[in-house]
Amino acid sequence: MNDDQLLRYSRQIMLPGVDLDGQLALADARVTIVGAGGLGNPVGLYLAAAGVGHLTLVDDDTVELSNIARQIAYTDQDVGASKAVVLAREMRRRNPHVTVAVHSRRLTSENAADVLAGSQVVVDCSDNYAARFAINDACIALAIPSVFAAATAWQGQIFVANPASAEHPCYECFNPSRDELDASCSRNGILGPLVGVIASQQAVEVLRLLLGLPTAAVLQLYDARDSQWHRIAMAPRAACPCRGK
Ligand SMILES: [Zn+2]
Repeated sequence: MNDDQLLRYSRQIMLPGVDLDGQLALADARVTIVGAGGLGNPVGLYLAAAGVGHLTLVDDDTVELSNIARQIAYTDQDVGASKAVVLAREMRRRNPHVTVAVHSRRLTSENAADVLAGSQVVVDCSDNYAARFAINDACIALAIPSVFAAATAWQGQIFVANPASAEHPCYECFNPSRDELDASCSRNGILGPLVGVIASQQAVEVLRLLLGLPTAAVLQLYDARDSQWHRIAMAPRAACPCRGK
């Protein structure tokens, strides 16, 4: 690590639980972010800024004017451009020491195992159930921990799935129904900074996993109408396919 990097990360390196060894572990880490929207923007910017060395973005969408109120890496000049390409550019601008790879395609059950292989942590910043189940199935098969989150209207939620832990549920334990309708921001609306709150918490959980800090099996719920966080204990479902693996 050179002088620029030591100075850049100095406030993080001084923390017990990070230290120089932790910062070096972050520099070696490989994290894939699925979705470059309201959650993916802050997650990508924070993980790049924090020095997570090898980041991959997966998104096939383009920037629209209605995204910009909450997808804070994008400006009016980016309307029509690839979200993954623009976000990767902004992440590199925040930190030239990290690499950002781009998959300008939608994550599906067919390509998920190929796209996610080699990741140490996968971050679900998608906005649909198909992508979450694709992430979940691939991460169970590949034994990769994942940080799931969703935000709509005034509420957000987040939990960590970890196939290496007997206590942690997977996404299918949490949501066994594969045929639910997506709750989209275009239908339900969303408070702009809510995604920043949830995404920041996701970035914290990713760093905790990479630094080897213990992760609780809890669903963290945030309601912006009364500014309350709630924590609900989670457990694997005995009948879930993940338990047989
Ligand atoms: Zn499960």
